[in-house]
Amino acid sequence: MKKNILVTGGAGFIGSNFIIYILKKYQQYKVVNIDKLTYAANLKNLDEAKANPNYKFIKGDIADENFIKDVFEKEKFDIVINFAAESHVDNSISDPRIFMITNIIGTQVLLDACKKYKVGRFHQVSTDEVYGDLELDNKELLFNENSNINPSSPYSASKASADLLVKSYYRTYNLPVTISRCSNNYGPHQFKEKLIPLIIDKAIKNNKIPLYGNGLNVRDWIHVYDHCSAIDKIIHNGKIGEIYNVGARNEISNIDIVEIILKELNKPQALIEYVKDRPGHDLRYAIDSSKIEKELNWKSEYDFKTGIVETIKWYLENN
Ligand code: NAD
Repeated sequence: MKKNILVTGGAGFIGSNFIIYILKKYQQYKVVNIDKLTYAANLKNLDEAKANPNYKFIKGDIADENFIKDVFEKEKFDIVINFAAESHVDNSISDPRIFMITNIIGTQVLLDACKKYKVGRFHQVSTDEVYGDLELDNKELLFNENSNINPSSPYSASKASADLLVKSYYRTYNLPVTISRCSNNYGPHQFKEKLIPLIIDKAIKNNKIPLYGNGLNVRDWIHVYDHCSAIDKIIHNGKIGEIYNVGARNEISNIDIVEIILKELNKPQALIEYVKDRPGHDLRYAIDSSKIEKELNWKSEYDFKTGIVETIKWYLENN
């Protein structure tokens, strides 16, 4: 069946991987990519899609109501998937305002357009960071979809606000929505400000690798392809109005990540430089993804060792 899909933020890390994934898997689908092309975007991420007649790029801002109205007027979208966001926690601490505009107002503008133009599905790409953090020493504790929303940073507060708006459009207007809350992604196309590409880049150049606090903060790392396959399942089979946690049960501390990468690149531990901790730094994220596993028959496929080796290779080839 043919479908016309809008992907927002498709020139970023996850959105670009998703566009390539969808165009490959569903050759009858059309994908329109709206991206403002902020510092985090890279159209080179989409070289593989550029020549595909089913792919179209439109530069623009999701928070610009008139622009979004024009696009929705011309295109009849079956599915809208909102990846567009300001996504770097450190930037949200130094300058939160743009996070509120893109992540909250931008989501509201898209929701209104979906309502007006009767789009069949709006999917919000959210994050496990909306739940806040967990203690380091209680490994039994995991966040599920009913856990409290308790964000720690302006970034996660803006994502949590967007989630609440999405839920309210379902309840108030019956807008067909779904939300996914995924853990930390790694893989090709990620901008160098984020932990894994930052470590790889610094290590390749023999530069010092800054590590916040004591480096013991724990994240659940998932390969970006697994995140893409989860969103694929949700937009096709997910129940309207539902939230799905997406994780890989792969908890690793930041210091372990640095050590794994240094070992793989044959670089000395002496490159590690501990720096003053990020204010409000979340200790541990861990999510329970049994709902999507049971209800939608999804599971993460990538094992971390294979994924990280491939990712390092990708950065070496695409620096
Ligand atoms: P990214 O920063 O790599 O990409 C974001 C993209 O959005 C960029 O291309 C940027 O130009 C675009 N954008 C920003 N503001 C825009 C606006 N106003 N209008 C249109 N486009 C705009 O982010 P990412 O890591 O690919 O994350 C994508 C989504 O996934 C985000 O919503 C993020 O919250 C969520 N998420 C990310 C992770 C992760 O580990 N990276 C984990 C869970 C959820």
